Amino acid sequence: MHVLILGGTTEARRLAESLAEPVRPNLRVTNSLAGRVGAPRLPPGEVRVGGFGGTEGLARWLREHAVDAVVDATHPFAGTISSNAASAAAATGVPLLALRRPGWAPVPGDLWHEAGSLEEAAGLLPALGGRVFLTTGRLGLAAFAALDDLWFLVRSVDAPGAPAPARMEVLLDRGPFTLDGERELLLRHAVDVVVTKDSGGHATAPKLTAAREAGLPVVVIRRPRVPEGVPVVTGPGAAVDWLTERFRPLLPPGTPP
Ligand code: NAP
Repeated sequence: MHVLILGGTTEARRLAESLAEPVRPNLRVTNSLAGRVGAPRLPPGEVRVGGFGGTEGLARWLREHAVDAVVDATHPFAGTISSNAASAAAATGVPLLALRRPGWAPVPGDLWHEAGSLEEAAGLLPALGGRVFLTTGRLGLAAFAALDDLWFLVRSVDAPGAPAPARMEVLLDRGPFTLDGERELLLRHAVDVVVTKDSGGHATAPKLTAAREAGLPVVVIRRPRVPEGVPVVTGPGAAVDWLTERFRPLLPPGTPP
């Protein structure tokens, strides 16, 4: 039994760790990474790196490697690979599950402004502040490149390239982040507005608390939708359950769950 995990997230790694337990000896797990990060944290199991070549390339890979199920555990904002996975799964008949951590929800005291895209977020900024903490990742900085009057603190895992805002300081770092650290960062750089994707999860949530405490507005970019018809679970445990259900008919009688 061969499971392909489309990864690049903490949840994907956790799922791979769960599936690597000795009670599942019949399972072959391939983790797929896009190759965006220079030194990724590698999950257990086989790892392949790089794109498949669109929907058709992915469908071919599923057939050639006799994949029995796919778990799309990519980042909630990795819309292209999720859409490709849905099309490739439909074309090959391979069952597909989306694993998505829940999004964040505002609590009293939050000053959130929702945006549907990076471009929309950039359009909101001039009215909200002049010193921006931009946490949307190194790709997509082009959307903010024309905002010459604003200063940006850009935090990313790897260094961004052009086009990017003219007035920018780059902070290379990778979560998890602490509340104390985020408080200190906002103060030290005199940040007056924060921009984030609605990534969800605990690792990068402290910036939201720090912004709330400091009374700062936060521009929150909404997630793209999971492709229609694809079942969704919110945690690795539920993904293991889904896989177990899928594979039960293929197991010899008496095999432990
Ligand atoms: P994307 O726009 O949805 O994907 C662009 C292309 O990258 C896809 O068409 C595919 O190439 C390739 N790709 C993406 N994920 C892949 C995977 N897991 N394995 C093999 N190929 C993959 O994705 P993205 O936003 O650039 O994100 C790339 C990766 O970084 C994802 O795996 C995601 O989990 C991770 N990540 C993304 C974010 C974010 O904010 N977007 C944040 C943290 C981590 P082909 O068409 O050639 O197959």
